Amino acid sequence: VSDSVVKLVKSFETTREAALVVGENGVLQYVSDKAAQFLACDAAESIGVSLWDIAEDWQECLELALEETLVQQGSRKLELYFEPTESWFELTLTPRGDVGIIVLTHLKDNTDSRGIREQVQSKLKVQVHQQTSSVEVLRLGRQHDSLHDLLTGLYNRFGLIDILEKTHLWQNGTFLLLDVDHFHRLNDSLGPAFGDALLVTLSERFFHTLRPDDLTARLGGDEFAVFLRSANQEEARFVAERLQRSLEQPFFIQGSDVAITVSVGILGNLGGYETPQDMLRDADLCLDYAKRIGNSSISVFDPALREELLARLALEQALKEAVVNNELEVYYQPIFDLRSDKLVGLEALSRWHRQGGAVSPATFIALAEESRLILDIDKWVLERACQQLSHWERQGLVTAPLNINVSASHFAELTMAKHFESTLQSYGVSAKNIHLELTETVLMDEGVQTQQTLQDLQHLGINLHIDDFGTGYASLNYLQRFCAHGLKIDRSFIADLKNPKSFELIRAIIAMAHALNMKVVAEGIETSWQKEQLEDLGCDYGQGYLLSKPLPAKTIETMLQHLPDPKASSVTLPAFLVLN
Ligand code: C2E
Ligand code: MG
Ligand code: MG
Repeated sequence: VSDSVVKLVKSFETTREAALVVGENGVLQYVSDKAAQFLACDAAESIGVSLWDIAEDWQECLELALEETLVQQGSRKLELYFEPTESWFELTLTPRGDVGIIVLTHLKDNTDSRGIREQVQSKLKVQVHQQTSSVEVLRLGRQHDSLHDLLTGLYNRFGLIDILEKTHLWQNGTFLLLDVDHFHRLNDSLGPAFGDALLVTLSERFFHTLRPDDLTARLGGDEFAVFLRSANQEEARFVAERLQRSLEQPFFIQGSDVAITVSVGILGNLGGYETPQDMLRDADLCLDYAKRIGNSSISVFDPALREELLARLALEQALKEAVVNNELEVYYQPIFDLRSDKLVGLEALSRWHRQGGAVSPATFIALAEESRLILDIDKWVLERACQQLSHWERQGLVTAPLNINVSASHFAELTMAKHFESTLQSYGVSAKNIHLELTETVLMDEGVQTQQTLQDLQHLGINLHIDDFGTGYASLNYLQRFCAHGLKIDRSFIADLKNPKSFELIRAIIAMAHALNMKVVAEGIETSWQKEQLEDLGCDYGQGYLLSKPLPAKTIETMLQHLPDPKASSVTLPAFLVLN
């Protein structure tokens, strides 16, 4: 493989994209580290091996597409499922002489069956044609051109880089990278045909908002690039705002109105860039930053940001590997009945020991929340906790229900309830022994999918607890509409118990929760005075360092072994637990 091809391929190393080069019969000629990671193989060892040996199921579709690509020298796009990691990828095949470059865009991990995009496209063509004329004309005219995106008719990444290199324009202009906020949710809930129609309409809006000499490209998935000639970063910000405003009018697609927003990363040539690829890579970092904030944010690149962004990405990468390699651990913090001291629950809390030290959950959970990694962590914790519970049950130990923290973003996932159901089933864990802790944001999310998930979970018989209560903005109205079984008063209120205002607030929360038939748990009890006060206030359960810190499974097991007869009405904790 020539250096120029490798260089081009390397420019695809973004958070969601990776590339490889294949020759005849799918023989791999170059595999980037990222691509190796996506395909769970070793980059160096894969050279000379056929792609079909790594992705058996892809052979049938891909072999034909590759052949066509090479013969017709045109691009092809496919959406394929990769069994070993249960992931969906969008594959864009582009010819470069007698080899094909395949760009893999990571779509999502789950086992939904989705059609191959090409099938969808034939249906879509008709719909799109009725809606958009100019884009469609562009699209048909350029279909076999490897420099344009099949769906929207805009430049693809190759096309953009190609024209920037040929004209040297990139040396004094600014990139805007745009990404649709929560695109995957729309795509999941309304289907890929809808998603495609949305992207086409979106590109048409951009087309009308921009000037004729601005270059627009679709880089893959829901990511677009706009290159503004001879504009600086400040001027580019105005354009970004104008593009965002152009989306304020809802989109009318397949009979319904949808509102979307985009987040934008801006990067001008601040000097020191040798190729447009290098610039695009930093612009992508910047977009990544904007996307984490989400909701129409704009982030302008600043060289000082680069180090910080790279450090975060590295930590995120390490976390991702820790999840895959089972390096996280689950600790359990007991929850007790304040009156009888009986164990009533165990909260599963994840722990990450990295290079000898513990990374605080406040750091890594927040980091994971910004990417979709939190979904993997939550799934992993659920699985590990169910495994643990069934192990304890098999040993004949008396246990308590497990409380599992579930991130708000999880509830908007189409397959969330199903996934929980099948995990419980596979470990033979009864739904009543799993309590999910969710935050007030979930209750306030009016999204159809979130509401559906909450209903499905309740149908399964899983108890729902509202975590960190008092820190969000849930109104009584939400609480009443939603039947939670329990409510956990945030530990900041407990810490402030000596303050009469907090005291009264807690009294009111308890009265309200009891009126709605909810149990109340006080979090973060650190002193016996707090425990007594809470007991007097009628708080049902408590959790905190005074009673027990979160502990590794082995220690909890010892505790369970020391629990007296299940029928006994109270438990005296072994002293080591309190001291731990
Ligand atoms: P949380 O769900 O409110 O969990 C309780 C937190 O309070 C835990 O912090 C626990 O260690 C801490 N804590 C318990 N008793 C006391 C006390 O007496 N004093 C003080 N100062 N702290 C106490 P941790 O383990 O650091 O977790 C922080 C947050 O991270 C959790 O808050 C939870 O929201 C989130 N989290 C942890 N593991 C997971 C997970 O697997 N998935 C998700 N989605 N979130 C998680
Ligand atoms: Mg919690
Ligand atoms: Mg909490």
